[in-house]
Amino acid sequence: MDDAKGGMFVDGTWQPVSGGVLAVIDPATGEPWAKIGRGTPGDVDRAVCSARQALAGPWGKTSPAERGALLMRISQLIKERHGELADLESRNTGKPRRQAEADITACARYFEFYAGAADKVHGETIPYDPAFLVAVVREPHGVTGHILPWNYPAQMMGRSVAPALAMGNACVVKPAEEACLSVLQLAALAATAGLPPGALNVVPGLGEEAGAALSAHPDVAFMSFTGSPEVGTEVQKSCAQRQAPCTLELGGKSPQVLFADADLDSAVPAIVRGIVYNAGQTCSAGSRLLVEQGIWNAVVQRLQQAFGALRVGRPQDNPDCGPLISARQKERVQGFLEQARRDGIPLVIQAALPGDLPMGGHYVAPTVLGPVPPEHPLVQEEIFGPVLVMQPFEHEAQAIALANGTAYGLMAGVWTADGGRQLRLARAIRAGQVLVNSFGAGGGVELPFGGVKKSGHGREKGLAACYEYSVTKTIVIRHG
Ligand code: NAP
Ligand code: MG
Repeated sequence: MDDAKGGMFVDGTWQPVSGGVLAVIDPATGEPWAKIGRGTPGDVDRAVCSARQALAGPWGKTSPAERGALLMRISQLIKERHGELADLESRNTGKPRRQAEADITACARYFEFYAGAADKVHGETIPYDPAFLVAVVREPHGVTGHILPWNYPAQMMGRSVAPALAMGNACVVKPAEEACLSVLQLAALAATAGLPPGALNVVPGLGEEAGAALSAHPDVAFMSFTGSPEVGTEVQKSCAQRQAPCTLELGGKSPQVLFADADLDSAVPAIVRGIVYNAGQTCSAGSRLLVEQGIWNAVVQRLQQAFGALRVGRPQDNPDCGPLISARQKERVQGFLEQARRDGIPLVIQAALPGDLPMGGHYVAPTVLGPVPPEHPLVQEEIFGPVLVMQPFEHEAQAIALANGTAYGLMAGVWTADGGRQLRLARAIRAGQVLVNSFGAGGGVELPFGGVKKSGHGREKGLAACYEYSVTKTIVIRHG
């Protein structure tokens, strides 16, 4: 891997930042193990200038087919460096090595998918007055800003910048300070693949400094933000000052709705994985389990078995659940568990933490709680840890009301053999994605993804992202 030396990747090269360095903490041990640059507003400005120059130079003149070929080369290089990138991602985020491998594979797949899409997003002509030709063409926004979270750094990088580059924008990325090492390396790999200088820049640093400067920069024409609703609101306010559009992906409290006629053999493992994967730090985690009353006891029994068998451990040992990202995140999750205890919420099962885990590591035992009243914070707030809350229901209408009964609307799972009910639930649940008899973190690269309500707005993934990262221009020609 290239040596970031605590710097930023701007204008096709490693450069020093002006704000000094920040320590990177190993989530598995709590010990510092690397350093990253603390980018300043001045550094962000340099990156935005470089992106503008790229658009005015060779990058701005690249044809869609050439952009596709470049993205395909980036995907190829990611595949060639798969092992090193997975090591880095696992060490930086604390996620089990196998999950980091899946993330790098997905990152390569994003570049591959948008490589294919680059020259296939067409405009249209519109039948109008016979004396006119009307063409609607799609153009890049210009400089796009991308603020990323720490939970899936490499995947988020692919998800966000691959469609932006495919559509001809130049990107400035501010990754999360907790986990940004793979993001920096991916930018360097893209340059190695031949991406012109300035087309993809990464400035690491703190949100209030580098992140706020990026979202407020007058030359950033479009912002993509993934993270908490609180910061998302600030980013949107900042964009509103200059009427710049933005997409916000702000997490969720996604329900899994389990009916008595569901195939529990396939549902329960998917439900466990849906909350334990990445230690529950997934925006689309299935963090609420709505269970039809008649099978409550059977489901409790199965969850007790499944959670009892979970292995919590060090990332390199490929456990089911690794450490959380930070001491702060661990405290936050433990705060919710403490509140549950104080409020007398029944504990269904808590997995065991092995005694030999490093003392300073950010480990939390996967936990199931329930029944939890609908208005309780455990039901209403995103915990972002391996904590599943159970809610009973008696009939379909109540299930729908509970499923829609939070401020969020990102994703939902519906488990039932009844075809009519599958469709009714899919239509009635307010969310960006509804999965029937399956559940996966956000679905595939091809599938449009994003939220409604407090989960945000705008769509990523699939061709939908190409439309977000471009803007139409209507050209009207009077030819007589
Ligand atoms: P966060 O504060 O929203 O951070 C997300 C990104 O925004 C990071 O890159 C962060 O930078 C940056 N940021 C922070 N303040 C900013 C500002 N004023 N202007 C512009 N950018 C700013 O999220 P967090 O504190 O890491 O996590 C808090 C909660 O957010 C979690 O518990 C979880 O519920 C939610 N979350 C959701 C997702 C998701 O996928 N939807 C992902 C992560 C977190 P720095 O972190 O480097 O300061
Ligand atoms: Mg943060």
